[in-house]
Amino acid sequence: MHDSVTTSTCPASVTGSPVTKVLRNLQLWFIADPATLAPAHDAPDRIEWSRVIPFVGMHLMCFAVIWVGVSPVAVLVTALAYLLRMFAITGFYHRYFSHRTFKTSRIAQFLFGVLGATAVQRGPIWWAAHHRHHHAVSDQPADPHSPEQHGFWRAHMGWFLTRHGFAPNLQRVRDLQRYPELRWLDRFDIAVPVLFAWGMLLLGKYLQRHHPELGTTGWQMLVWGFFISTVVCYHGTYTINSLAHVFGKQRYQTGDGSRNNWLLALITLGEGWHNNHHRYPASTRQGFYWWEIDITYYLLKMLSWLGIIWDLRAVPRAVRDGGVKAGNTLHHSSALTGIGEH
Ligand SMILES: [Zn+2]
Ligand SMILES: [Zn+2]
Repeated sequence: MHDSVTTSTCPASVTGSPVTKVLRNLQLWFIADPATLAPAHDAPDRIEWSRVIPFVGMHLMCFAVIWVGVSPVAVLVTALAYLLRMFAITGFYHRYFSHRTFKTSRIAQFLFGVLGATAVQRGPIWWAAHHRHHHAVSDQPADPHSPEQHGFWRAHMGWFLTRHGFAPNLQRVRDLQRYPELRWLDRFDIAVPVLFAWGMLLLGKYLQRHHPELGTTGWQMLVWGFFISTVVCYHGTYTINSLAHVFGKQRYQTGDGSRNNWLLALITLGEGWHNNHHRYPASTRQGFYWWEIDITYYLLKMLSWLGIIWDLRAVPRAVRDGGVKAGNTLHHSSALTGIGEH
């Protein structure tokens, strides 16, 4: 459904008077159904400032540490909130919704979407649509976040602040659009982060009241556990679009700028093996060898032991060992890799 909108000529957000446009954009902060957003043909690369105020505000709120201070427990909760949501983005938004590298139940699928939405990177349909498009046209002019084509800042974050970035190509996500609960998540993508932020505020208030020795408050936990951890998670995620197509080693001739970078793999729990990923996006595991640390994969493997997910897909040995660029000889026996263990 809604496929017809992808062929219309102009997004609703650019029609009418300037005041109407701003009001329409403010409304889209709260209700952003991708199905109602057509691709922007009118100045698609222009940043929509009235729509990106919440994104700017997320960053500005981090400066509230000046007033709320810091405590060890707030830093601990921030780290845990970062890890949980980075895993939700890499394990679910990326390896499940975008690439369907494993299977799960319909209930778990929805919960994965909810967990991913806490990272404030919009809904799973929007995320997957743009990401599938990236793979289809990687580092070509139509790739919205190619550093090669558009420079670092556009690849890092400029691309989704533009008119073009708001409207996903829904033709690429028909499989996900079949589920009304996922469409609901995309339509009200702000609901989940608001609840998550509220939970942080309540957690801080609870600790302040019952464990005053920890030295935290509701507002402190909100600033650290929600705003700071979200912004750090933002920029960690964005490095894969900006840096992982520039810095690192290219094991495979993939026809794009994707690289393998161990530091980015640590920051993003495994996504830094980006050249591997472009080589074979259908694999649940992105670290193709045992020494390529891929924490998301280890956590997904644990979920499979619990029976929550199944049919994790591996990279075929011929794919892994073929297409290797000159000068990238493989020194380790494939018997050590664990490939084929699924
Ligand atoms: Zn890429
Ligand atoms: Zn991908």
